[in-house]
Amino acid sequence: MDITEVRIKLVEHTAERLLAFCSITIDGAFVVRDLKIIGGPSGPFVAMPSRKLSIHCHACGFKNPLRAGYCNQCGKKQAEQPPPRDDDGRVRLYADIAHPINASCRELIQSRVVREYEAEIVRARQPGYMSRYDAIGDEERR
Ligand SMILES: [Zn+2]
Repeated sequence: MDITEVRIKLVEHTAERLLAFCSITIDGAFVVRDLKIIGGPSGPFVAMPSRKLSIHCHACGFKNPLRAGYCNQCGKKQAEQPPPRDDDGRVRLYADIAHPINASCRELIQSRVVREYEAEIVRARQPGYMSRYDAIGDEERR
């Protein structure tokens, strides 16, 4: 697998550890968007695109956040459900949409994206710099 393109959108003045959004193109043919670059204790790392897990209201079918006490649509009290957990027993509120299934692939993506992130920081200092990451449609999903 070859990552043929990485597009970065640097995030400035963030209270969280979010450094940038990015998209990757695989083998010049398939694009995955909405990866995040997060500042960690041992340097930036890449988080895969994920979605908030949700649960349907038993009364009206509305999709509510996983641990909502009451339906956001009809207001009915929601049944207590055991939250889904990952292999380590931690509660999962998010699920990856796309992700590597082995360490070598994760490392490939990680090193390529972080290298491009560091190059983007240098590019961003140039006059007339514009990010090539297409942010259209991101607002409504946050
Ligand atoms: Zn409802």
